[in-house]
Formats: sequence, structure tokens, C-alpha cells
Amino acid sequence: MCRHLGYLGSSTSVGSLLTRGTNSLRNQSFAPTDMRGGGTINADGFGVAWWDEQTVRSYRNPMPIWTDPAVDDALPQSKSTSVIAAVRSATVGMPVERSACAPFTDERWAFSHNGVVFGWPDTVADLWSRVSPVDALMLPAPTDAAALWIVLRHLLRTLDPESALRTLVSEVLATSPKARLNFLLSDGTSMYATAVHHSLSVLQTEDSVMIASEPTDDDPDWTPIDDRTLVVATASEFTVSHLDEQEHT
Ligand code: GLN
Repeated sequence: MCRHLGYLGSSTSVGSLLTRGTNSLRNQSFAPTDMRGGGTINADGFGVAWWDEQTVRSYRNPMPIWTDPAVDDALPQSKSTSVIAAVRSATVGMPVERSACAPFTDERWAFSHNGVVFGWPDTVADLWSRVSPVDALMLPAPTDAAALWIVLRHLLRTLDPESALRTLVSEVLATSPKARLNFLLSDGTSMYATAVHHSLSVLQTEDSVMIASEPTDDDPDWTPIDDRTLVVATASEFTVSHLDEQEHT
């Protein structure tokens, strides 16, 4: 399963967020510590999205993150108060290409999926049938993660982010009960993360909140997040609620 992280806080170097810490996201690409049976390394590309004022920008590469010099030279030149990054371990049968690397973005949102939908594509066929033909044509890649991104964008048109994520999790689990659905979604101001059948931790400091598949260092303040929960974070605080606690549409 891929690894991802999200950051909200004081302005920081986008590139250094990928390399910071003894268990940085880059180190997790070749030596992850908590894959829970979902693969061994995350060498099928990486991506990072950050916000420049209200505009989301991104950089993605289908090669292993450790091979790309931009991580140490160009990316540290950009600074942001909000970042989402991911290293990918392609699910068997899914293509290794730039367009399949998270984060997926549009003008406001960035999204990453750490996990797998078992039985894909049949298990998401009902959900997919609600997506308009125009949205369907915007599918970035033939992967479960990319398809869920298109469905989520559809849901975000009528639902707030929490309700949209709750709906997405609940509807995918209805047809693929063992699906691993660790999502990370941000509009650059707030960040939303789900933990469903996979690892997630949060670190709150004086001036930031970091959400990550694995703690990126040995800071004792990392909080492990319970399974089947939703984390909602701003730069100064985060809350955790159970996914089945609230009614959804
Ligand atoms: N299933 C997704 C993909 O192949 C995510 C991969 C993962 O989390 N290992 O893109």
C-alpha cells in the first residue's frame, strides 16, 4: 500500500517535507515500517501537491522518488502552508504511469488514496454509474484510486468534505468490505483523512499538524489513529470521529 502524508501549518519547504525525518516519506518508499501485508516497497512513482495562495500546484513522477533529483533541488525552492504527498506501490494489474500517481488535483482540491478496492472494477460499478459522462471522461488513469477521486469530486458538488468522504467509504465497503481506504483530501485550508484497514498517525506541534501513514520520525507525540475513523485537521488542531457514527446520505 502506498504511503502518504499531509501537512498544514506555518510556511515550509515542499521538498523538505518529503525528506524530513528518520522515517521520511522518501525513506518509506524503500524501507516502510508498517505496510500490513500490502506490498513491500513504494517504488511506482510519487507525487506532491501544494497550495500557492488558493491555487493547487503539483509535481508527479512515475519513477521511484529516490531517483528524482528535483526532490533535493527544485522542490525545496517552493514553500507552502499546505502540502499532500504520496509514494506509490501500484496495485497488481494497475498501470505504472505519471497520471496514476497521487495526489490527484483540480483547481482547489488534492486527493490521495493509500489502499486498494478488492474486486475492482466490478465493486465500484454502481458508484461509477452516478458519475456524469463528462466527469467519467476526466478519469486520469484506469486505477481504483483515480476512479474514487472522480466519484469523490462528484460527491463534493453536493456534500461537505466530511459527508462526501463518509459516503464514499461506506459505499465502497458495502461492495468491497475489506477494501483499504486511507484517503487524504485537502483544499489547502483544512485536511481530511480516513483510516480504514490501514495505518495512520497524526503529529500536532505548536505551528502545524501532520497526518501520515507512518510517523516520519521518533517524536513521542505522534498519535496513532484508530481504524475506521475520520480525521479533520486545520493548521492548529485536529479531531477524530468514527466513520459509522454519523448519518450520511
Ligand atoms: N490502489 C492504488 C493504486 O494502485 C493505491 C496503491 C496503494 O496504496 N498501494 O494506485
